[in-house]
Amino acid sequence: MSRNIAIIGSGFSALAAACYLAKANNKVTIFEKNECVGGRARQLKKEGFTFDIGPTWYWMPDVFERFFADFGKHPSQYYKLIKLNPAYQVYFGENDSITIEDTLEKICIAFENEEKGSSAKLKKFIAKAQSNYDIAIKDLVYRPGISPLELVTPVTMQKIGQFFSTISKDVRKEFTNVRLIAILEFPVLFLGAKASNTPAFYSFMNYADFGLGTFHPKDGMYSVILAMKSLAEELGVTIKTNQNVEKILVEDKAAQGIVVNGEKIHADIVLSGADYHHTETLLEESNRQYSEKYWEKKIFAPSSLLFYMGFDKKIRNIEHHTLFFDVDFETHAKSIYDTPEWPSDPLFYASFPSKTDSSAAPQGMEAGIFLIPLAPGLTDTTEIREEYFEKIMIRFEKLTQQEVKKNIIFKESFCVNDFIEQYNSYKGNAYGLANTLLQTAFLRPKLKSKKVKGLFFTGQLSVPGPGVPPSLISGKLVAQLIEKEKL
Ligand SMILES: Cc1cc2nc3c(=O)[nH]c(=O)nc-3n(C[C@H](O)[C@H](O)[C@H](O)COP(=O)(O)OP(=O)(O)OC[C@H]3O[C@@H](n4cnc5c(N)ncnc54)[C@H](O)[C@@H]3O)c2cc1C
Repeated sequence: MSRNIAIIGSGFSALAAACYLAKANNKVTIFEKNECVGGRARQLKKEGFTFDIGPTWYWMPDVFERFFADFGKHPSQYYKLIKLNPAYQVYFGENDSITIEDTLEKICIAFENEEKGSSAKLKKFIAKAQSNYDIAIKDLVYRPGISPLELVTPVTMQKIGQFFSTISKDVRKEFTNVRLIAILEFPVLFLGAKASNTPAFYSFMNYADFGLGTFHPKDGMYSVILAMKSLAEELGVTIKTNQNVEKILVEDKAAQGIVVNGEKIHADIVLSGADYHHTETLLEESNRQYSEKYWEKKIFAPSSLLFYMGFDKKIRNIEHHTLFFDVDFETHAKSIYDTPEWPSDPLFYASFPSKTDSSAAPQGMEAGIFLIPLAPGLTDTTEIREEYFEKIMIRFEKLTQQEVKKNIIFKESFCVNDFIEQYNSYKGNAYGLANTLLQTAFLRPKLKSKKVKGLFFTGQLSVPGPGVPPSLISGKLVAQLIEKEKL
């Protein structure tokens, strides 16, 4: 049956849902408040430099392939993927780093150099991670999070112990070298939680990292957004930008449409890809499913302080993705999750897309993106941003042994206040709701409203969770639920 579907937002999840819903013959319109599509994955262009302002790591290529295959397409019809080698580099001290290359065999050599006997342990660990990947990413994450029974299968029953141990414990059982431990605990940061708070079953992220590798779409992650926008338009989706949704209209407990820039627009179904908490504020209180207390108690994935910089020279001793783990992660993690405050000595991440992709910077120059993960809801001022800029620049110059500060042509920053102002993000979170044991699958905010008929949600605060691949899956899951809905 063809229905009129209004979608709020144009991030990965909303675009994915729009494609599936249009393919099923619905009349789909996207309303995006910002001037361009993409949500957290938008791009910044300045003085010949191009920066992805959000995601930069393209992991789990199979999920993207599966998405495009649902429409008889392949990612290569829309964008070119480059497998990064090395995948990334991790600094532990001055001129002291480990490089993670593009195959498990090469990574085993790097591990063996650090800790004798570790390569055999790594192979065993990654084999288990691969088996978890096959169960989780090829099957479980494609279930809609309606009932706990979705997770109960003969294979998951064999793995039940892994839901009650943590990544942190499992890694430490096998490895003693602190640097290798830090590298193996890094992938779960994408799930928004600490390794000590993430079930061991989530080691599938380690398979994504070491088994499948890290990719860069030519011209940046935004190429994937543009690909999905093209696909959506090919399927007949109408995309409207500069459309701020102010209210969701409800009558007799059923969604009737939305109010956009003051105008009432009728819809049979309303689907929101905007942050869940914000979407509920577009409803009368009696139609909201989750109270402010509910959100207060949830573990949110971090916010971030980001800098986008144009350098007038090539930067040495860095890779496309470079992590700076030269300070104690536990102390930084405490300031994110336990006692929210600005970290005294932050870990940070830097990306230099122009190392791989000449479209990111003018010739002979470098585009740099720096990210410090932070607790959501922190006070965000220009002075604090500047203080942290100085901190990481001093560290960066010392660790990579070069001067770069004097080569900065410009810098732009993005932090808590921007996440709130630009995306209506709860407390300025960057990556949504963390994936912990108690915030997994059916324990996450639901894709379908329990209170308002015809109202649905998608995105990184809902099922299955944060990250670009899960957002694509979230769009598919919600579209399937909408297709089942009889109106
Ligand atoms: C800095 C950063 C780095 C990241 N790095 C990675 C990475 O390397 N790899 C990875 O896989 N993932 C990464 N992520 C996570 C990934 O980007 C997100 O999980 C994903 O983009 C979220 O998509 P979404 O559809 O849930 O929401 P969003 O992208 O947030 O889309 C929501 C949209 O709704 C719009 N909206 C909000 N309110 C309204 C309203 N009232 N009316 C109309 N429109 C509205 C917003 O403007 C926005 O466009 C990163 C995220 C950030 C922020």
